Amino acid sequence: MQEQNLDLKKLRTRLKRHMEEAVPDARIDYCLTCGMCVSGCPASGIEDMDPRKFLRLLALGQDEALLKTDWIYSCTMCQRCEYACPMKINVGRFVYELRGMRPRDERPRNLQRSCDLQRESNSTGIPNEDFVWVVNDVLEEVIQEEPEWADLKAPMDKKGAEFYLNQNAKEPTVEPEEMVPLWKILHAAGADWTYSSKWWDGANYCLFTGDAEDWEKTVRNQAETVDALGVRYYINTE
Ligand code: SF4
Ligand code: SF4
Repeated sequence: MQEQNLDLKKLRTRLKRHMEEAVPDARIDYCLTCGMCVSGCPASGIEDMDPRKFLRLLALGQDEALLKTDWIYSCTMCQRCEYACPMKINVGRFVYELRGMRPRDERPRNLQRSCDLQRESNSTGIPNEDFVWVVNDVLEEVIQEEPEWADLKAPMDKKGAEFYLNQNAKEPTVEPEEMVPLWKILHAAGADWTYSSKWWDGANYCLFTGDAEDWEKTVRNQAETVDALGVRYYINTE
């Protein structure tokens, strides 16, 4: 180990300070280097990185390597590492922070684009009218082709319903028939539910870009819609 890495002031770099301020119980210096986190991590070995190595780079002040690595987009933020770690260090949480520190134009383009679209309406960018049209069209088809489901419903903007259901935007866009099984389950259970014709997208790509402000805006738009409909329970399908 080089002598400069033993200087504790030098080790408290920009990234380490950021993590210690942003992450409750960051415990960066508690790492035992035991490697338990590596064993269950689905991203171990990708981009020549794993959670133990990530944590060592952070603890040893190797900001440049961390700010450069694209491994942060392989980490699923599943928290298995935290579960396995004897010191309960949550590497996924550091990854989230690091993603948010990337300049927008250096984030994966498709991810950032989906988040940008979502802040406007939904992550695929299809007009809300198209979502409503697809839902009604698929419903009509099921009713016509499956007589046993002749009274199936897919309510839209139903005020005072008990459940609000959101929808992964990819389904109405590319595989609309995938929406039907859940409609059938809710129908068979006798649930009083509704979609909303706006802010209906259940995915939140802004979580994956690590941008808390965008993420919060997306969730707030949907929560306010649910409140305006007077719905009691919010079912997030993602
Ligand atoms: S949160 Fe990331 S680092 Fe931790 S186990 Fe999951 S993929 Fe691996
Ligand atoms: S499991 Fe925890 S203590 Fe062990 S190497 Fe991973 S982060 Fe460090």
